[in-house]
Amino acid sequence: MLLEQERKKIIEVALTIQKEKLIPLTFGNFSLRDTSTGYICITPSGMPYETLHPSDIVVVDVNGNIIDGERKPSVEVPMHTAIYRKRKDVNGIIHTHSTYCTAWACRDGGMPCITSEVADLVGGKVKCAKFCLPGSQELADVTAETLGDDKAVLMGNHGAICADVDIDTALKDAIILEAGAKVAFIAFQMGNVNILDDQIAKFMLEDTKQNYGQVENK
Ligand code: 13P
Ligand code: ZN
Repeated sequence: MLLEQERKKIIEVALTIQKEKLIPLTFGNFSLRDTSTGYICITPSGMPYETLHPSDIVVVDVNGNIIDGERKPSVEVPMHTAIYRKRKDVNGIIHTHSTYCTAWACRDGGMPCITSEVADLVGGKVKCAKFCLPGSQELADVTAETLGDDKAVLMGNHGAICADVDIDTALKDAIILEAGAKVAFIAFQMGNVNILDDQIAKFMLEDTKQNYGQVENK
């Protein structure tokens, strides 16, 4: 089977996302780009993740043409491929409908940066793309544009996207983003929130890239 290990990886990630409660039911979609072929493995549309077999994962090219797989791919193939075309550094994308991120995506102005994890991830406010119909080319274009060079973006009245060097890292980002969104929600209920200074948040992003974790992981 073409890209069998990578297809298995997508299922493993989907089950983790489910365990972490970052999606209800079959929502969300997850993909990775195989760096040797340039092909993208992505979840099928609307299938329960716990039933997935590697052959259910669809392989597409960067323009969304189906290369291998019997299933209908996620309706968000245009969004994933728009990001991969724009971002050569991105090889893993996680789209969730996690509760707190989605709540922030339902209000104006994105999510203010108030915790160190969010500063380390995005280096400032998490931007929010305007609402567009799910599965539309407009959603793909607007999300890729609003994401810019960031690792995370909210999708207006819909959910969130994390995009990173590989799918495991994008998965960690999605967990961090949801935790940050929950803390931000609580803090704003409490009032008198200190929003992190933009310069400091940017510094933290760069500092994390250079100094966080073990040297062998860099
Ligand atoms: P798919 O099941 O087609 O991936 O759609 C779910 C979703 O989250 C659409 O935005
Ligand atoms: Zn969605």
